[in-house]
Amino acid sequence: MSITYSDFRSDTVTRPTDKMRKAMAEAVVGDDVLGDDPTVLRLERLAAETMGKEAALFCPSGTMANSIAVKMWTNVLEEVIVEERSHIYNMESTHMTFISGVTPRPVRSERGAMDPKDVAAAVRKPNVHTPQTTLICLENTHNNWGGAVIPLDNFKAIRKVADENGLKVHLDGARIFNASVAAGVPVRQFADQVDSLQFCLSKGLSAPVGSMLAGPRERIEFGRRLRKALGGGMRQVGVLAAPGIIALTEMVDRLKDDHARAKKLARGIAGLPGVRIDPATVETDIIIFGFEHPKIPVTAMLEKMKEKGILALAVSGGIRMVTHKDVGDQDVDRAIAAFKEILAG
Ligand SMILES: *Cc1c(COP(=O)(O)O)cnc(C)c1O
Repeated sequence: MSITYSDFRSDTVTRPTDKMRKAMAEAVVGDDVLGDDPTVLRLERLAAETMGKEAALFCPSGTMANSIAVKMWTNVLEEVIVEERSHIYNMESTHMTFISGVTPRPVRSERGAMDPKDVAAAVRKPNVHTPQTTLICLENTHNNWGGAVIPLDNFKAIRKVADENGLKVHLDGARIFNASVAAGVPVRQFADQVDSLQFCLSKGLSAPVGSMLAGPRERIEFGRRLRKALGGGMRQVGVLAAPGIIALTEMVDRLKDDHARAKKLARGIAGLPGVRIDPATVETDIIIFGFEHPKIPVTAMLEKMKEKGILALAVSGGIRMVTHKDVGDQDVDRAIAAFKEILAG
């Protein structure tokens, strides 16, 4: 007998909608490396307009978009301020050093929002010994801080530090639409505080592939050359841009349902033996909780959950679960029931 899984591992597991599949089949395409794929051009214009930036670039992944952003704003012998638990610092295979030849300078934070004073203190003026700080990277929502929303006021305060020190600011906005929906702040207001940003079409927004990098036209055109150099020049890629357009225009409003389901899941498992979670900290679609059970290690817990059809991921000291389009209320109920059954005995 085959089992159907409720897949809470990530919001990257979303499948394209039927409408996206149809748009892929019917997409008008050209050669995007030669600049004439109309569907890609339409998506890039839409992304730029949505963010209030001059231009945007369709990238195969968020990691490549962030790599291009760091490279387009920095030179060798420079340093980039990053939040200690950020994706760009921890989860992107060291592209800062590997591609850009710059060093990351991690700054601690409370739930992903760096204290502007700490950021200011981390800025270095160059001398013969030290690199020059030239870029600050922000992340919103903050993945490793359990989808925490970084408030707009924090963006403004860090923008001020950047301006006082002549620095650029890049936003890793992989889930900026989740932040926008949760905070009730239009994405443009976050984008207004930064020089460039990338966001993912392929997470909660459910497109199969792709991230957009938005910023000033001249930098984005340089970014286009960097994308080619990194092997990210794609040809009749309108077939992937078409679902991206649907992601941007039709999939944003439903993110609130993911947030409500994450909250429901957190409330449903809080207080069970071994589960360490404060549901009040679950702001968006990501739930990261400590799991310390006298008899069941995390790996065994994940195995038991899998036997009951629930997929989740291990993180240090705990478990990570993410809600998205392809897990509904019945999947959340199933997950809560599985936790209760496993942890009751
Ligand atoms: C997913 C993600 C990225 C990009 O990841 P890719 O898998 O390369 O698309 C960047 N930043 C954050 C915070 C992410 O969650």
